Amino acid sequence: MTQIGFSKSIPIAGEYDVLVAGAGPAGIAAAVTSARNGARVGLIEKTGCMGGMGTAGMVPAFTGVTDGEHFLAEGIGREVFDLLRGANGTGPENPNIIRAEILKRIYDDLVATAGIELSLETVLTDVIREGRNVTTVITASCNGLEAFSASVFIDATGDGALSAMAGAEFGLGDDRGRIMPGSLCSLWNNINWEEYHAAKVPIFDILTKAFAEDHFFEVPDYHHTGMYRTGTAEATANMGHVFGMNSTDRVSLTQAWLAARRLLPEFEEFYHRRVPGFQNAQLSSSGSLFGVRESRRIQGDYTLTYQDFENRARFEDEIGHFSYGVDIHPYDSSIEEFRRFQAEFKDPARRYKKGENYGIPYRILTVKGFDNLLTAGRCVSTDNRMEGSIRVMPGCFITGQAAGMAAVMARQSGNNTRAFAVFELQNNLRKLGAYIK
Ligand SMILES: Cc1cc2nc3c(=O)[nH]c(=O)nc-3n(C[C@H](O)[C@H](O)[C@H](O)COP(=O)(O)OP(=O)(O)OC[C@H]3O[C@@H](n4cnc5c(N)ncnc54)[C@H](O)[C@@H]3O)c2cc1C
Repeated sequence: MTQIGFSKSIPIAGEYDVLVAGAGPAGIAAAVTSARNGARVGLIEKTGCMGGMGTAGMVPAFTGVTDGEHFLAEGIGREVFDLLRGANGTGPENPNIIRAEILKRIYDDLVATAGIELSLETVLTDVIREGRNVTTVITASCNGLEAFSASVFIDATGDGALSAMAGAEFGLGDDRGRIMPGSLCSLWNNINWEEYHAAKVPIFDILTKAFAEDHFFEVPDYHHTGMYRTGTAEATANMGHVFGMNSTDRVSLTQAWLAARRLLPEFEEFYHRRVPGFQNAQLSSSGSLFGVRESRRIQGDYTLTYQDFENRARFEDEIGHFSYGVDIHPYDSSIEEFRRFQAEFKDPARRYKKGENYGIPYRILTVKGFDNLLTAGRCVSTDNRMEGSIRVMPGCFITGQAAGMAAVMARQSGNNTRAFAVFELQNNLRKLGAYIK
């Protein structure tokens, strides 16, 4: 590719103790925790709202909230759940279902009350690094290019964008280079939920029948996660996999958006024809953030592995615990891949028993080769299978809260994420309510 040089003098728009890039569940947990513990915090987010996949992405639900006995996302996660329930922000049939518009306002209030300097519609565009430290990030917004400097940085972009731009090592995909499919989530109305429930619809069977008899599906997708009730006649849907996409490639991401939007009317037709209660259902809108399940995994001091999942591993430097199963969606639309997914994720033998969980070590947040950079959320240091567990939103609250507290302690320790005793981090997290054994 032909290259051009580019040099420009730009304003420093903010100087912080802690700068958090990305305001999904991990970034919000990190920013609020740092700010409440005395840090001057900047939070930059490329969309017009906070919440990431759970709001702009219209992901329907929080999953993996407990291990059957313990509430795992204690602290900020608990606070968000309580606020959401108190604001009538959950589904009428399931308290883990998200009414995204209400969740957006809850995050607005949390971040404002914590005194965080928030910049929406601000895209992290480049990173300046000096040796083992990030010093400055460059952003693009309606103000043009600007710089933000900080003592400690937290990469909560989901894609590990900050770390990758800084030159950190990362993994992407499985050992064959396959990446889990993404989905564009959507909002639907005019549903007769009573009729739907009364019909006890065998969705897999009628979907398979539709693949054989109707001919409007571009790709037969056996893994149908479906509709989640959010109101009297409303649902959010996690439907339609886009296979083979890569969210770190502009061309691939553009094609994914176009493909996903083509899938939604196919599902609308299917539901109209074959699903009782959905004869008059309407697709109202789709997410403004593409539903990315898998992206860069930034290399930390430790890599959490599937072996750790199987072993229910414990670590000296645990900052929390998690138990959600390893949920690797089918890599392609074949029935064989769907069966592989079912065998792995649904197999009772692989599932944890009530009260079982694995430890999350602090070292999966400390970015290899950097002193003042932490990750939180989907992009923490795991193998590709463990990313399939820890990526769900309660897991992101846990790593976000820990990164936020660690950033404050790093700021007080020469801007070094490894220069304080981890037991003190654990004690501080316990004071916030974190569940650490
Ligand atoms: C289709 C789908 C269904 C899912 N279902 C569930 C479910 O049922 N339950 C569950 O708990 N989890 C579910 N997940 C997983 C979960 O939603 C995500 O893994 C989780 O939201 C990741 O949190 P995060 O904070 O790391 O990243 P995100 O939620 O992705 O947030 C990252 C934020 O960073 C911002 N950002 C990214 N790049 C930049 C940049 N360059 N500059 C500025 N800002 C940037 C983004 O706009 C976004 O707001 C699902 C995911 C998908 C895609």
